[in-house]
Order: sequence, then structure tokens, then C-alpha cells
Amino acid sequence: MAKYAYFEGKFVPIEEAKISIMTHAFNYGTGVFEGIRAYWNEKDEQLYVFKLPEHFDRFRKSSSIVKIDLGLTTQELCDLTCELLKKEEFKADAYVRPVAYKASEVIGVRLHDLEDGFCMFAVPFGRYIEKEEGARTAVSSWRRIDDNAAPARCKITGVYINSALSKTEVMERGFDVAIVLTHEGHVSEGSAENIFLVRDGELITPAASENILEGITRKTIMELARAEFGLDTTERQIDRSELYIADEVFFCGTGVQVAAVIEVDGRPVGDGKIGPIAEKIRNLYFDVVKGKVKKYKHWCTPVY
Ligand code: PMP
Repeated sequence: MAKYAYFEGKFVPIEEAKISIMTHAFNYGTGVFEGIRAYWNEKDEQLYVFKLPEHFDRFRKSSSIVKIDLGLTTQELCDLTCELLKKEEFKADAYVRPVAYKASEVIGVRLHDLEDGFCMFAVPFGRYIEKEEGARTAVSSWRRIDDNAAPARCKITGVYINSALSKTEVMERGFDVAIVLTHEGHVSEGSAENIFLVRDGELITPAASENILEGITRKTIMELARAEFGLDTTERQIDRSELYIADEVFFCGTGVQVAAVIEVDGRPVGDGKIGPIAEKIRNLYFDVVKGKVKKYKHWCTPVY
């Protein structure tokens, strides 16, 4: 469990980090957040935070879209994260959750003329989904939020009702993860993860214009696939039925890490087991995030 939080400009015991029920962000979803993973490397006796500045760069972009002034530089946010993790003395994988939010205690939905707040906590964290080696999925009847209704490319708290609706819908139908389509009916992403298909040895993922969250793991996978396996990724529109005939389908994201999809809408993907490309990308990903691959160690910020 978390022992500390960064709240209202300082570190406090987690029990003291409380907001009022009148808080604007609580009432209207006017906040932005990040999800960051830190991995414990036993051999190095070190906790490595994966792509830390990249997460805070996206946090900054999310904040600017909803007119939140962070008042902290990316470097300061990175330093605070390491300080928090150090205070927690974690010697296991952990998840860091920074939130910037409209903190005024007033009625009235808007973004302007409100005070901004920032807080952060961290918890020990294992798997986000149980079946990383083989998730059963279904297409949700909920469509991915359209960018012209609310920005899809950044992490706005209120917008996550869209992920919650789709995830719960398919889980209540007995599946592990939802696949969500755009309003035009093309594949967008998972309920909180980006998606890749493999067709005839080619990696394909929905383009940034498909209302996806521009995932940090998505970018990492594309870089690793190119550099280590000579696999280029095509970013394009993907039809629903392409999911049914793909050789492999997998999800990626900070939470889900790299998770194989073995079934879509009652149809097995490939031979119904994790495919060879997903498996080698997944294995490499875990080595990279744990700081075991020298070439990519610069993506890992040591805490201790
Ligand atoms: N899509 C959504 C809706 C998400 O919430 C996440 C998790 N942040 C992702 C995709 C994956 O993004 P990332 O790799 O940056 O964690």
C-alpha cells in the first residue's frame, strides 16, 4: 500500500492527502493523469522507472489541453517521482499515478477561472490484466470517444468513463478486455491499451487519427520491432473483420505491458495461442523495462 503522497506542494502521509467533495475535478472530471511503471531489478538491486520524462511530457500536453498550469517542469516532476518512490522504499514493481486537476470548490462546469492542483501517489503493482499470455476479447458496443467530442489523445480523467463503460460491458459478458471501434467503425484500441495486428509478417496498428491514446508503449514497441527484429509498423485504418483473420493480435500499454489476444468475438486468433512475433516482442519488452538491455537502459531512470 501507499504510505505517502505528494499533495498541495509537499509530501504527506497518504491519510492526509484528501480532497473536498466540492472539488471541481471530482464533480466534472476536469483532471488529467498518467500511469507510470517502475520495475524492480533484483540483480542491480535497483528500481527503474520506465520512460519517466516521456510520461511527464504527455502529462504536460494533457494539462495544456484542459488549461491546467502544472507550475512544475518535467525535470521537477521526474525528481518528485523518484523522491516519492525512495520514500516508499519499494523493492518490487510499482505504479505511479500523478494527477493534475481543477481544485476549486465551486459549482459551474468550465475550464477557466479555476485553481489548479497536483498530487501523486505510488503503489506496488503486478499485473493489470490476469491473462497477459492469452486474453479473450470482444468488440464493445460503446464507441471510442471522438476527438471532436473530447480529446482522445491525452489522459483526461472524465474521458475514462468511455474506457470504463466498454471494459465493464465485455467483462460482464465473460471476456478479459474490450476492443473499441471509432465512430466510423474502424478499430481504435483496447479499453485502456493500444492494439497491434500481425498480418503476413507485417505489424499494423491504428494511426494516431483513429482516436487512440498516443501510447508510450506503442511507440516503444514500434521502435523495438524495427531496431531488433527488422519489422516496420504500418499505421493505418483497420477494419473490424481484419481482427478475425489476423495471424496475431496483441495489446500494449503501461498497465497491460504486452498482452496476447487469443480470441476476438468468439473467433480464435491464429491458432488460439500467443503468436511468435507477440512472444518475442513481449520477452524483449520485459528485459528492456527492467533495465536488462544496455542499449535501452537510457529509457530506465534509476530511483536509488
Ligand atoms: N489507451 C488508453 C485509453 C490508455 O489508458 C492507455 C494507458 N495509458 C493506453 C492506451 C496505453 O498507453 P501507454 O502505453 O502510454 O501506457
